[in-house]
Amino acid sequence: MQYASWMEATGEGFISEILKAAQDPNMISFAGGLPAPELFPDQALQRCFQRVFEEQGKSSLQYAQTAGHPQLRQWLAQQHQRNGKPVEAEEIVVTTGSQQGLSLLAQTFLDPGDVVFVETPTYLGAIQAFQGFRAQLMTIPCDEQGIIPEELETMLKQVTPKFLYLIPNYQNPSGKIMGLERRIALLKVAQAYDLLLVEDNPYGELRFEGERYPNLIDLGDQVIYLGTFSKVLAPGLRVGYVVANPDIINHLCQTKEGVDLHSNNLTQRAVLEFLNEGLLPGHILKLCTLYKERREAMVQAIEKYLGDDVDMIIPSGGLFLWARFKKINNSFDYVQETIRQNVLYVPGALFYPDGRVTSEVRLNYSCSTPETIEEGVRRLARAVRV
Ligand code: PMP
Repeated sequence: MQYASWMEATGEGFISEILKAAQDPNMISFAGGLPAPELFPDQALQRCFQRVFEEQGKSSLQYAQTAGHPQLRQWLAQQHQRNGKPVEAEEIVVTTGSQQGLSLLAQTFLDPGDVVFVETPTYLGAIQAFQGFRAQLMTIPCDEQGIIPEELETMLKQVTPKFLYLIPNYQNPSGKIMGLERRIALLKVAQAYDLLLVEDNPYGELRFEGERYPNLIDLGDQVIYLGTFSKVLAPGLRVGYVVANPDIINHLCQTKEGVDLHSNNLTQRAVLEFLNEGLLPGHILKLCTLYKERREAMVQAIEKYLGDDVDMIIPSGGLFLWARFKKINNSFDYVQETIRQNVLYVPGALFYPDGRVTSEVRLNYSCSTPETIEEGVRRLARAVRV
């Protein structure tokens, strides 16, 4: 079969291998990015869906507006500001998860060969979305707070990208957070070079400790913001959204029309019911308490079983811990051995679009109990010492 050429560049073969291995009931998987299913508010959501059926049955089953359910857009607009000004509902499009937001941005902005700047490392799903439209991804050097503004400026003097994609809060995969001064410095560079920023923020609410910083979109004009209910409610709902100026939203809607007409009407209304009941803040608190405990368990297990063999970035929120093995060269080489030991991680190389070799790994702690985490890290230590 003659597939599009970009398909050869995807790491899909490897991901499906990991997903297949994760089916084994004896496997401990740190490879996914799954929220803890035991905290899904299934009963509250059932009540919300039920109420939508009872009160808005027929209209919730009808085709609906491409930009999303008007009251949900209104609710979302009230949660945000853009460059210090209130956001209007017309500055929101509801998407089928924020992954669709990434894909719509790619389809709307990118011609083949266009350059997109990304963090080093960056989210695999974004690499896939952008490469799907044949973008050329260029990595910007990062430190412990993410993108280094001076490095960005140096790059901007040489290349003009369509946009810079970044995850300022509890980044996937590195768990890093960008401080306030860094955010301001970055926006200053963006403004000077008329650079569009795409701010992806699925994890910002999952804060265990430390300060809450304003979003980039709160502070600057040239920002497109991606939000989602996947990590704070449930990913299976597939409800995300984009905040941008009305012109960009109109263009994204034009693209979305050709993709799926609109996101699931019934689900958008049920999510709105959940939000209107005021249930989200309490739910997020529960998530933070549980994930903090699990983050703690993973840090302790790494210190106990891997000790000086690894450097790690201890995340202050989110779902992932990023670690570097000091005594091996390539974490890809140990995947088969870890599968034999019944534990899974994602090798760091998958998060670098420049194809580099690395001994880093991404470990997810949100969907395993502290006991399972300890056992998993014990197995991991055994695998990398073989
Ligand atoms: N962006 C980032 C950084 C993510 O980690 C994820 C999910 N893993 C997504 C976007 C997509 O999330 P969803 O489509 O479920 O909203």
